Amino acid sequence: MADLKKPRVRAEELRRLIRHHDYLYYVLARPEISDATYDRLFNELKRLEQQHQYLIPDSATLLVSGGVAGVAEGFAPVEHSSPMLSLDNASTEEDIREFEARMNRILPGATFRYVGEPKIDGVGVALVYENGKFVRGATRGDGRVGEDITHNLRTIRSLPQTLHGPLARYEHLEVRGEVFMWEAAFQKLNRDLEEVGEGAFANPRNAVAGSLRQKDSTITAKRPLDIVLYQLAADPRSTPFATHWEILEAFGKSGLPVSPEARLCGDLDAAIAYHRVMEDRRNEIGYETDGVVLKANNLDQRVALGFTTHHPRWAIAFKFKSQQAQTRVRRIVINVGRTGALTPSGDVDPVEIAGATISRTTLHNADEIARLDVRVGDLVVIERAGDVIPHVVERVPEPEHDSRPPFQMPTHCPVCGGHAYRPEGEVVWRCSNAACPAQVKERLLHFGARRAMDIEHLGEAVVNQLVDRNLVKDFADLYHLDVETLASLERLAKKSATNLYKAIQGSKNRGLARFLFALGIRFVGEHAASLFAQHYGSMEKLWAATEEELAAIYGIGPRIAAAAAEFFAQKENQRVIARLLDVGVTMTEETVKAREKLLAGKTLVLTGTLEGFSRDEARAAVTRLGGRVTSSVSKKTDYVIAGKDPGSKYDDARRLGVPVLDEAAFKELVSER
Ligand SMILES: [Zn+2]
Repeated sequence: MADLKKPRVRAEELRRLIRHHDYLYYVLARPEISDATYDRLFNELKRLEQQHQYLIPDSATLLVSGGVAGVAEGFAPVEHSSPMLSLDNASTEEDIREFEARMNRILPGATFRYVGEPKIDGVGVALVYENGKFVRGATRGDGRVGEDITHNLRTIRSLPQTLHGPLARYEHLEVRGEVFMWEAAFQKLNRDLEEVGEGAFANPRNAVAGSLRQKDSTITAKRPLDIVLYQLAADPRSTPFATHWEILEAFGKSGLPVSPEARLCGDLDAAIAYHRVMEDRRNEIGYETDGVVLKANNLDQRVALGFTTHHPRWAIAFKFKSQQAQTRVRRIVINVGRTGALTPSGDVDPVEIAGATISRTTLHNADEIARLDVRVGDLVVIERAGDVIPHVVERVPEPEHDSRPPFQMPTHCPVCGGHAYRPEGEVVWRCSNAACPAQVKERLLHFGARRAMDIEHLGEAVVNQLVDRNLVKDFADLYHLDVETLASLERLAKKSATNLYKAIQGSKNRGLARFLFALGIRFVGEHAASLFAQHYGSMEKLWAATEEELAAIYGIGPRIAAAAAEFFAQKENQRVIARLLDVGVTMTEETVKAREKLLAGKTLVLTGTLEGFSRDEARAAVTRLGGRVTSSVSKKTDYVIAGKDPGSKYDDARRLGVPVLDEAAFKELVSER
């Protein structure tokens, strides 16, 4: 009968789709659909199976949402001691009350306490400790077999190599948790990748997955990964613990990081309140989370409740309201950046997401548009997470899509009409005209930025007018502006014009390192700029260096050397630099006794116990190098030095994206070479 056959066909189709997307997500780390869409498919299958019991396969093939062929090439398979299950999920309070009612049908009259933990959007891992030593770590894989990523996990600073405290004495211990990236650290990573011309990651989860799947763990080591643990993979009857909360406490005492947001909730109402509080705070927590996980606290109850083929009966993911919405793309706009990069973004029908009206979304680059196959007129799902610019998650399939013309990058710059091209090996298209007004504007803004020449009041409105009215064509022109000219700009009163004039003139003595960074040479970030400045000490000497000599400097790669050499070889750049010298811009840097000044102007924060230094010794070492030690971590902190058992300052550093050095790195920094 058709009615009987239809659900069976649909269930098969859904399982196939889910297996396919599981494979893309867990094994290749390259999801093609959003989590929300995946949940829709999964929930549809679950509903079908609930309505038609005969559809549930009698084998355990459905264990952990369908067995995917687990391990990608190049990583050794690791069989988990017990399956890493997924979680059932709920999106409303009714769902949650039904979750407790289901437990009560198995355990009539029981009362439940819950542990609430944020559901972090990262990559699930299983770690094995033997006699307190970290010996093996694996991805979740298909839930039964994952990939051995021990070497990459060892690079995560917050993951203890050795346990102390109550869990250290176990001969064999498997713990599970989530590797994730703080939002600020993720943003900084993407900026760094873009600076060296590499593709940015779409979201923190992809960045984590990509980092953990590196063959070369020195790359992983440079990625700002963090971890929290939330599960002990053992039959509770074989452990001394009576509750999940006790396990989390034992984790903490043993050195395994647990979420500081975890809470013990006395009953279901308290758990629901926890969910509400976390949802209100979701954009302040500092990492991506789409809900909370609620787990029955009592381990005896857990044993009695057991598992379905998909998930434990005693835990549930209570999702937050979606930060996604559907809208239509009305226009694809191209912006031109400082290095001439043509960046597409989409104008969309205004739509409200989590309290904000969204009318523009980033589209990253031409490859991303091609991957999503977004065309003007298409219906898309957009997502807004934290303070990040909203992005397109996926296109909603429509029959009309095929009749819409595919997007093509323009052959000419939309601002100056210059020829647009795509350099070999890059994802980005560029305007070839160096005098392109859009590029000049972006370059001037970069030149005056806080970390560059730090010219206060040189904002976008001012720069636009200076370029549009032909008052400034290059950096040197800035220093020839007088107060009268500046006061003639719109919305710039005499007093503001005077302040801007003083700020420009006052920026002449920033030194060679910041000047080099301000020039906006491709691939030359703050670090490379300061290496050049330290090595040569003056523009004159730097200028005379060959590409080979530049590349020979420790820390300077061939691509940076080539870009710098090319920059200095261009007549136009030589002319501008000569004019800047004429107006008195400092192009030297104190390199004599450079070691002593290594930390000049830098602010450091110490946390935890250093083995080789007392606090006073560490402080003295920093001061000797020109640095300053302060007590609290802020965005202005340059480094946090973390010894053993670092405190909340360590967490602050991770949250704010401040680089953290361990004792070995600190020692190297302050010692004589
Ligand atoms: Zn242009």
